[in-house]
Amino acid sequence: MKKVNLTINGEKIQVPENYTIIEAAKEMGINIPALCYDPDLDKVGACRICVVKVEGARNLVASCTTPVAEGMVVTTEDEDLVETRREILRLLLDNHPNDCLSCEKAGECKLQEYAYKYDVKFMEHDGARRNGKIDTSNPYIYRDDSKCILCGKCVRTCGEVAERRVLSFGERGFNTHIVADYDNALAESSCVSCARCVTVCPVGALMDKRAIGKVRSWEAEKQEVKCTVCEYGCDFELLKKNNKVISVRAKKPGEGRPLCLKGRIAVDLMYNEEAEIPFVKKDDGFVESTWEEALGLDKIISKLQK
Ligand code: SF4
Ligand code: SF4
Ligand code: SF4
Repeated sequence: MKKVNLTINGEKIQVPENYTIIEAAKEMGINIPALCYDPDLDKVGACRICVVKVEGARNLVASCTTPVAEGMVVTTEDEDLVETRREILRLLLDNHPNDCLSCEKAGECKLQEYAYKYDVKFMEHDGARRNGKIDTSNPYIYRDDSKCILCGKCVRTCGEVAERRVLSFGERGFNTHIVADYDNALAESSCVSCARCVTVCPVGALMDKRAIGKVRSWEAEKQEVKCTVCEYGCDFELLKKNNKVISVRAKKPGEGRPLCLKGRIAVDLMYNEEAEIPFVKKDDGFVESTWEEALGLDKIISKLQK
């Protein structure tokens, strides 16, 4: 791959020509703040918090979507950029519940992290507020729309699997929100509970329902494990407290394979001593099941027993 030379914050660097500015900065150990960016998803430049200055450009540019170019000179943080980031955060927090004290995501929430970094408080402007719905219909996923910042990462990750595409943006403007199918409750939608969307959500809008109230990320000891149900080996994380596994959560799909419900519940069963009863979706919604049925092993086991 051809390389290009550019300067970031006064330091010279050479990177492959297909890099974006945010990727080049990362090579230098500079983490430009970003809410909608994920290296594994399509880049959309929606949240604008990653804007940087490029010498000669008329406007600030989104570093996640702007490709590097030979001779480019970039500034990733100065007074103007900090003020721009602060204003974006103010607008997001104006429409956000002031709930960090009891929110499950506290300690690993990107909105909380950047609000702290750039010293932005809740609700600095007056005006109308959006009222998000809470959807508890799915036994594995808790959705709190009032915390959604419309970064679209859940929509993009769900849409990567062609036959899935459960999530999308519904309505417009101020009323825009994330919908499942035709604005159904998650349990009544075509969602397969793979938890890819939960894994990428940067805030507390999508959470692992079974982990709620058990342990928060900052107080847990963490251990990365791989699913062994199939050869792709998706990544999972055990959250432990006092040497005991309290919760198992999906981290990242294996190369070329989306996370699947079977892998997720199998990892839960393998590592979690107090794994909860699994649910399976039948015609009349989610019903409590057995591990054998949930893992698709019931017929094999009954044959072996015979
Ligand atoms: S989603 Fe983040 S910013 Fe919002 S209440 Fe939870 S921790 Fe705080
Ligand atoms: S759990 Fe999986 S299928 Fe369901 S909405 Fe999230 S990404 Fe889509
Ligand atoms: S639910 Fe989470 S991932 Fe989806 S748009 Fe809202 S904040 Fe982003």
